[in-house]
Amino acid sequence: PKDIKLAVLGSGRVGKSAMIVRFLTKRFIGDYEANTGKLYSRLVSVEGDQMSLQIQDTPGCIQVHDNLAQLADSLSRCVQWAEGFLLVYSITDYSSYQAIRPLFQHIRKAQPDSRVPVVVVGNKGDLLHARQVQTDEGLQLANELGSPFLEISTSENSDDVGQVFQHLCKEVSRL
Ligand code: GDP
Ligand code: MG
Repeated sequence: PKDIKLAVLGSGRVGKSAMIVRFLTKRFIGDYEANTGKLYSRLVSVEGDQMSLQIQDTPGCIQVHDNLAQLADSLSRCVQWAEGFLLVYSITDYSSYQAIRPLFQHIRKAQPDSRVPVVVVGNKGDLLHARQVQTDEGLQLANELGSPFLEISTSENSDDVGQVFQHLCKEVSRL
């Protein structure tokens, strides 16, 4: 099977771990260890193609208002390692939205090949009453970065999360 290496990046508490666990187990679990840098490995089948998927979970620790912020060493290594990226913010947390651009810049700096697939995800789409980021703002940012955009809810039992990961796997395997 093809090897696929993905990394999930974003601020703390946006649902990165929840998304990975949802994709791998189809379950939603309330709370995860906050600072895990766990690496998940799984054989998956994407449109009939067997893939050996590795997903790197990351702690959110970027300095939002400083574009020159140094990433922690481990995060920096992860940005070098991955072949495809999920950039996640929460629609209920504007600062997590503002963190997406600097994260994207770190990716482009580490991997100047503009074909490296990046998907922007606005998570917690079920928490409409607490919305701080409009759908249009997510779309606009993703367009600017040249990435696909999806607003999703990891807590709801739909296949949104699965589609995000499957899309990334396909994009990476195409390169
Ligand atoms: P991480 O720090 O980015 O890994 O975030 P977690 O995966 O630990 O999630 C942070 C909190 O948000 C947890 O309590 C999750 O259960 C919750 N959460 C994650 N995704 C969603 C979602 O789509 N909707 C709602 N309502 N809660 C979510
Ligand atoms: Mg986490």
